[in-house]
Amino acid sequence: MSSQKNNSQPTYFANTEIAFKNKDNGELKHSLWLFKLMQNPFLVKVFSKLTLIAIKLHLPISAAVKATIYKQFCSGETLDESQKVVKHLGKSGVGSILDYSVEGKESIEDFENTKAEVIKIIHIAKGNPAIPYTSLKLTGIARHVLLEKINSHHELDEAEKKEKKDLLARMDEICKEAFTCNVPIYFDAEESWIQDAIDSLAELMMRRYNRESAIILTTLQMYRWDRIDYLKKLIWEAREEKFFIGIKLVRGAYMERENKRAFECAYRSPIQKDKISTDIDFDKAVDICLENIDIIKLCAGTHNEASTTHLLEKMKALGIRNNHPNVYFSQLYGMSDNITFNLADMGYNVTKYLPYGPVKSTLPYLMRRAEENTAIAGQLSRELKMILEEKERRKFSKMLPAASK
Ligand SMILES: Cc1cc2nc3c(=O)[nH]c(=O)nc-3n(C[C@H](O)[C@H](O)[C@H](O)COP(=O)(O)OP(=O)(O)OC[C@H]3O[C@@H](n4cnc5c(N)ncnc54)[C@H](O)[C@@H]3O)c2cc1C
Repeated sequence: MSSQKNNSQPTYFANTEIAFKNKDNGELKHSLWLFKLMQNPFLVKVFSKLTLIAIKLHLPISAAVKATIYKQFCSGETLDESQKVVKHLGKSGVGSILDYSVEGKESIEDFENTKAEVIKIIHIAKGNPAIPYTSLKLTGIARHVLLEKINSHHELDEAEKKEKKDLLARMDEICKEAFTCNVPIYFDAEESWIQDAIDSLAELMMRRYNRESAIILTTLQMYRWDRIDYLKKLIWEAREEKFFIGIKLVRGAYMERENKRAFECAYRSPIQKDKISTDIDFDKAVDICLENIDIIKLCAGTHNEASTTHLLEKMKALGIRNNHPNVYFSQLYGMSDNITFNLADMGYNVTKYLPYGPVKSTLPYLMRRAEENTAIAGQLSRELKMILEEKERRKFSKMLPAASK
């Protein structure tokens, strides 16, 4: 059964004082203004289109983006600039997963830059509890078209064979560094038409580097109807071949794109038939991972309170302690602070996924966040609701006499 419809669920995440303790009134006001703007799907569409046009025309829009949406969802343009946020979160017991957020790059120089940047993060994270993991998008170090060809088992020409060899060398260099420094790294999941290629490369690295513990993690998008079978297959192989696995569970960020392509190319969409099926599979995957916690390092990347509650309850039922080193919770920076900070307050391992990078390169990521936070059927987004509640609480608490606070 899905965790979603159970109204008698305990609410672990309602304390807005804990949720926003790191935000002063000015910061709260800025978030409120931004989430109110993002409530309007029309504005979000216009913003996305205008931003793309402005970039193409080389208009100087970086400063405006940086002061608004970028400030909410990204930690800085460079690794150094991001350290302020890392330290700030660390003080509240929240770890940071630094993500060098450059997407859609195509040149060898870009790929080598991303590799160098990820290795830099690994070195900063070494022995640093404030940065317990790192992450990598494979399209940051390989051409999308190459991954598509590998995915569809297209015959590669000589130049592409060399490109694949170079990609493997790049991946291996990163994974080896992660292994040597004992800093787990997870591979993000992307579109289904390159995901088999990502899966097989991540599995190769897991087999190579996860002999003693899970250093390499892969990501499963539970909006796909085939992921439970994939998870079971991976566990079976890991037990047979004696290696550890790392699993980040998410619902998935490319649903519209997936459905559109499947429709246009006339194949069965890889996406579940409805939201509830995604929710059921997410919770089922949580159960399977926790039941195999001896060989799995799990990271639940979700803002869904019911699924997070399901995970807490399942840990309790299986006698898995709150701060078990193989269970992590994670939310995106700028979202669901109520889940993040309340979990940290209860002693769970929790991290924020912290994108950073030049403003222009982070735009695809920022647009996905804006779309995710638009109004659903006229409802207030969950972020907006929590911020309004905290504003009210602060106003009310200021009115109370000191003794009754
Ligand atoms: C730490 C972290 C790491 C992440 N890494 C990745 C990654 O590597 N790859 C990636 O793709 N995403 C990634 N994401 C983004 C993630 O997929 C979205 O944030 C997530 O989908 C939002 O869902 P939710 O679990 O917060 O819950 P909810 O808000 O309850 O669920 C919304 C999600 O449900 C699914 N859904 C909605 N409607 C339907 C429908 N009709 N049918 C089927 N499914 C539906 C969609 O996935 C939608 O995004 C990551 C998120 C976090 C927090």
